[in-house]
Parts: sequence; C-alpha cells; structure tokens
Amino acid sequence: MSLLSVGTVAFDTIITPTARAERVIGGAGSYSAWAASFFSTPVNLVSIVGDDFPASEINEMESRGIETEGIDRVLGKKSFFWEGEYLADFNSRETHKTELNVLADFDPQLPDFYKDSEYVLLANLTPSIQKSVIQQMNERPKLIVLDTMNFWMDVALDELKEVISMCDVLTINDEEARQLSGVHSLANAATKILQMGPKYLIIKKGEHGALLFANDGIFSCPAIPLQKITDPTGAGDCFAGGFLGYIASQGDTSFQTIKRAIVYGSVVASFCVEEFSLDRLKSLQRDEVEKRYEMLLGMMRI
Ligand code: AMP
Repeated sequence: MSLLSVGTVAFDTIITPTARAERVIGGAGSYSAWAASFFSTPVNLVSIVGDDFPASEINEMESRGIETEGIDRVLGKKSFFWEGEYLADFNSRETHKTELNVLADFDPQLPDFYKDSEYVLLANLTPSIQKSVIQQMNERPKLIVLDTMNFWMDVALDELKEVISMCDVLTINDEEARQLSGVHSLANAATKILQMGPKYLIIKKGEHGALLFANDGIFSCPAIPLQKITDPTGAGDCFAGGFLGYIASQGDTSFQTIKRAIVYGSVVASFCVEEFSLDRLKSLQRDEVEKRYEMLLGMMRI
C-alpha cells in the first residue's frame, strides 16, 4: 500500500551541549520518508530543494524505495536551512535560524501516480500546503496523519484548524495540545481536540513516551530509556513516518494496528536520535527494529 509524505528536505546545523553538526541533511520530509521506508512500503515523497542539494542523497532515497519524482529542484535557489541548539537536558531547543529559501514559493503539484496513494503523512509545514496536498488526491486516502507545531498555532490557527478537521490522526506534543485546546489537563485537551475532527490524537511526550487518545480508548507507550542520545532532531518525524509506514504495510487501520504502529514509531525515533542527521537510519537494519520492538513490548507487559 503506498504512502505519500510531504515535508521539508533540508540542511540543518545542530548544536548540542557536547557537539555540533554543520549543514547536515535534515528536514521533516527526509526523516519521515526514511523512517517509513523500513516497512517495505512504497513511499512517494513531495518536497522542494535548491540546486545546492546533493544528487547523491536523492539517489540514496531512491535506492530505498522512496519515490522522488515529487521533489522539485529549483535552479539558482538554495534549499531550506534550519539551525537549532539543544539545551543541557536535550529536552528543550532554540531555533537560531530559519532560512525558507525555496520553501517560500512552495506550491506542490503532485505527480499523477502520487494521487492514488492510500496513506498520507503531512509532516510539519504551512497548513495551506498541507491542505493543497489533500485536495489533489484522487480519492479520500484511507488515513491522513497530520504533524504540526506551536508555530502554526501562533501564525495560522484558522487554516491549521481547517486541516485538522480534514485529517484522521493528529500528532503534537503535550505543550501544543494544551495550546491548541486552551486547557491544561491532557485528558480534557484530548476531548476538545478530538471534537475538532480527527479520530485519533497522539500526544508525544519526548522521553516520557506517547499517549494515544481515541473514541475507542486510550493507549500509552513508554519511550525506550536510551544510553546514547546524540541529536533529538527528527524524532517526531521518524515517529510519524514509522507509525504510518507500519500501518501502510499492514493495509489496515484497526485500533489494534494503530497501537502497534505507535510502538514501531517510537522504536524508529529511538534509533534516529543516536546519531546526527540521517546517519543512524542509514545504518539501521530491519531486524534491529524488530528486536527493539520486542524489547519495548516487554517493557509494557507484566
Ligand atoms: P523535529 O525534530 O521532528 O521537530 O524536526 C526537525 C526537522 O524539521 C529539521 O530537520 C528541520 O529541517 C525541519 N524544520 C525546522 N523548522 C521547520 C519549519 N518551520 N518548517 C518545516 N520544517 C522545519
């Protein structure tokens, strides 16, 4: 079952308390597509880059089964660039620079064969772009997952609420759930957000795991206690990509499958943070994913 993912393919400079990585490959689209590609699902990636983006990275995506025809390459312009710094506990980060570059005029036109994708992942982007992607699909996809952030709640709340009403699964962090709902208790925030349209709300709580709220019930998935964290960038995107990649591989959206997908999403995210950029995903093998999946299930069982 094919999966369409739209998001940034970018350069990042990352500063952590112990190291710095200069202009490495990043972007929510890159992380989510790589994460989904572990589940033997064709991934149709939609994005935009400048002529500074290495062709070798695009070729590597292709060799993993990520379709890149939907990545627009604009000559004479630079790729999206983001610079962020993590504070001592790795939980909070500051944005130093956001250079939109090619993203400023991004108006994606989906290749025809992308329009029949059955699963859609709208990674963190301008809500109007996310909406335009949904509108270009030939049929209503089986599941639309929306990832967003507080920035869009501050600057484009009405458009964001419209996209939220069109999606099936919303993934945000606990602070964003409070901001979006205007209430502090996460259970009450979830009730309010589910009334906005989605069937499922996933609240990501970083090192405290993830909570799923649905009309069918609540599910809680712990985070794996990691010995090594190098760079948390992309964890949320890998969670979303792994989550939907697993669902697409099963071709089923039952509550049971959604719960398993949350565990798989958490597993892929836990690998991503072990190295900078896509480095750990590039060396990751599917059997390592399965091993960690079993380990995480073991942590949840009495
Ligand atoms: P995450 O750590 O999951 O929040 O995602 C980090 C990735 O998002 C980085 O690789 C950045 O390139 C990308 N990014 C940062 N800011 C934005 C933005 N405003 N819009 C789209 N992508 C962004």
